[in-house]
Amino acid sequence: MADRRRPNYDNNTYDERDPYASQDASGRAGYGSRDAYETRDQGYNASRPAYTRQTYSGAYDQDGQAEWGASPYGGQQPQGRYGQSAGAGAPRQSSRYGSDPYGGNTSRSTRGSRGGQQPTQYPVGSGQAYTSSRRPNNASGVEPVTSSAHHRQGGYGPSGNLTPQHNGSGISRRKLLGMAAGGVAAVALLGVGGALWYTHRAVACTIDGKVRELPIGLSVQEIVSRGYASPVAGNLVSICADGEIPDVLERGAGNPYTLCVNGEPVDASTYKLRESDVLEFINGTDKTEDVTKQTTEIPCGIQVPDSSLLLASIGYVKQWGQNGISTVETGVVSGRTIDRGVTQEARDLIIANSGVNPDDGRRLVAITFDDGPNLDYTPQYLDILARYGAKATFFMLGSTLAAGEEYTQMAQRVRDAGHQIASHTYSHDDCTLSGMDAATREGEISQTFDLIEQATGVQTSVLRPPYGELRGWQFLQYMADTGRDITMSVYWSVDSEDWSVASNGSGIEDGAAQIVANCTNGLSGDNYNGAIILMHDAGGNRDRDVVALPSIIERFQAEGYEFVTVNELVAADSTLPEWLSSGNATRPEGSIIPDTSGIY
Ligand SMILES: [Zn+2]
Repeated sequence: MADRRRPNYDNNTYDERDPYASQDASGRAGYGSRDAYETRDQGYNASRPAYTRQTYSGAYDQDGQAEWGASPYGGQQPQGRYGQSAGAGAPRQSSRYGSDPYGGNTSRSTRGSRGGQQPTQYPVGSGQAYTSSRRPNNASGVEPVTSSAHHRQGGYGPSGNLTPQHNGSGISRRKLLGMAAGGVAAVALLGVGGALWYTHRAVACTIDGKVRELPIGLSVQEIVSRGYASPVAGNLVSICADGEIPDVLERGAGNPYTLCVNGEPVDASTYKLRESDVLEFINGTDKTEDVTKQTTEIPCGIQVPDSSLLLASIGYVKQWGQNGISTVETGVVSGRTIDRGVTQEARDLIIANSGVNPDDGRRLVAITFDDGPNLDYTPQYLDILARYGAKATFFMLGSTLAAGEEYTQMAQRVRDAGHQIASHTYSHDDCTLSGMDAATREGEISQTFDLIEQATGVQTSVLRPPYGELRGWQFLQYMADTGRDITMSVYWSVDSEDWSVASNGSGIEDGAAQIVANCTNGLSGDNYNGAIILMHDAGGNRDRDVVALPSIIERFQAEGYEFVTVNELVAADSTLPEWLSSGNATRPEGSIIPDTSGIY
């Protein structure tokens, strides 16, 4: 019968869309007997000898509710059928079951039992109900029939040709016993069938934009193998030059397809279909074969300010060096070789020498004190600074910090008052850093960075070279030789010449006035913005400085200036690298300090 019927359908389409058709009908007892299915089809076919593909497709292509509406099985109220599944539908079904133990043959009861959130209410009929539902299910999505009247008349109704009521009154006792036994067996089978039906009941879902009705719990593998979705994996493709089209090396060996359910990615290997889920399959993308790489380094260059001293406000690393790379790739599968050229540009290491120009809208000045700490003067400076709410930077000598605990305690007081502490080298040797051999110079610098940390816990690599004497290449050589970095070599833009005033025989007030004049010469508006003022808190008599300092601060504050540390000053200049403001820059991983032997 099935064979005779099938040609009337568009076979391919039918199979693709009917989950219970050829595969399930033969394989699953719970889905009911194929005979019943086909028997009913007789009536069906007899009355409808010609299905047309047009009708079939038309019914299918409508959306879910429209499909219900098109159902010949009484689907005049499509929403009601879905909507009332557990509610209004159930009572109606149970009464039907009560009067018709074999009654699954009615499409109505089938529909109702879908609503069977209470399967125990129809233990007998539900199994058969599912049997018959194979047709209605099909009908829900693809049933070609356009007239529901046909079905009701054609043997699907309760009085159709499968119902037992046609037995006459002249039946023998033996026959009746046989029938009874058969009935008990049927009840048992139907009970099992009911349980199976519930765990395999069909639920509405959407797959790649099409509304379906499929057994709950269906796996992705089953969904795909049954043709409800046809996602494909990407291909394994060869490497190729830019602008070329890669060769396909192996179809389907690329990235696997993926699945989104209700808009969220899910693991397709474990997903099981749930009611109302919206599934969207996404085809896999192509995967390029693995490659072996042959790389060649392109050495980075160096840019340092000629051989001059770093005599602008600060010398610093403006750009960290990085070697470039050129790459040749070979495809592991294809064997193709592609020259990728320069895959990473070389970046020069740049030591720069520049002023500081705060651009955050404030007027800022950094006052600095060299050669300390000093047990007499430094506390007086701290008191004055505190009185004016001014911050300063103290460039300390390593040899002083190492001279005794009272000096480290003084350094801690400076730290605790919120001022910056930095290095003025260890010995302040008159030979100057630029005149020393490299090893001595590097020891002077490193040792003091370490002593400051030991004394105060402050990690700094900010340096003020005595007399400002450090050359760009010496800055570079320090980093190359020691593996350590200098954040800034801080020079100055305003010299108080306090050391000169103190030694030229001037009196305290007189000398102080000279110092104030040296520090504020021409001060007006923001013309000192970013200035770094050089003074000393040790290394001679600083009585004049103590008198001058309040006047200097007052003059600047009257012009709207804030006294900040050197770190804060450079932080306020947006053109300077961010790493300067920490006062303890370290070279980024992978950065290169190039071979400097050629420029020493
Ligand atoms: Zn000095």
